[in-house]
Amino acid sequence: MTKAVYPGSFDPVTNGHLDIAVRAASLFDELIIAVYDAPPKKLLFTTSERVELMQQAVGHLPNVRVELFVGLIVEFAHKHNARAIVRGLRANSDFEHEFEMALMNKNLAPDVEVVCLMTAVDYQFLSSSLLKEVAQLGGVINNLVPKHVATALKKRYSLPEDSISRKGGK
Ligand code: ADP
Repeated sequence: MTKAVYPGSFDPVTNGHLDIAVRAASLFDELIIAVYDAPPKKLLFTTSERVELMQQAVGHLPNVRVELFVGLIVEFAHKHNARAIVRGLRANSDFEHEFEMALMNKNLAPDVEVVCLMTAVDYQFLSSSLLKEVAQLGGVINNLVPKHVATALKKRYSLPEDSISRKGGK
């Protein structure tokens, strides 16, 4: 039984994150999505909101569960007997940072492998931060996040009901 963890801040979860989660869930027996409790960045959603949004998004995947974590991801991986840390790679810009982190994690925990999955073409320019910027300005994002996430963003930014999903809305 091979377990993996997929860590991130997921503020909020996007279709890019979900694509990686679905593909990782097909590679490993069990996938734990680890929502970072205190990332060193300004957050829009609280930890419990980010966990809840993620749980709703992956509820249909039987071998995936969501947990929050604090501290080192390698310690979280050890605690759960996970053999791998899954990361998603977008454009070149992700590579250097992921490479550095992977080497550091390897140094901390040689028994845990970092597995990077390449982003789907449709999501290569999608990040939570850009998504939030566009959503705040009322831009259409309904093809980039699950419906409940679009609703949560709309509420958080006090946008009218038909905003951010009016073009080609589902
Ligand atoms: P971000 O704020 O950039 O979305 P996260 O910490 O939430 O960052 O990301 C968690 C993991 O998901 C990282 O490995 C990140 O590279 C990956 N990821 C984020 N967005 C995408 C995407 N559009 N496609 C593939 N992987 C992604």
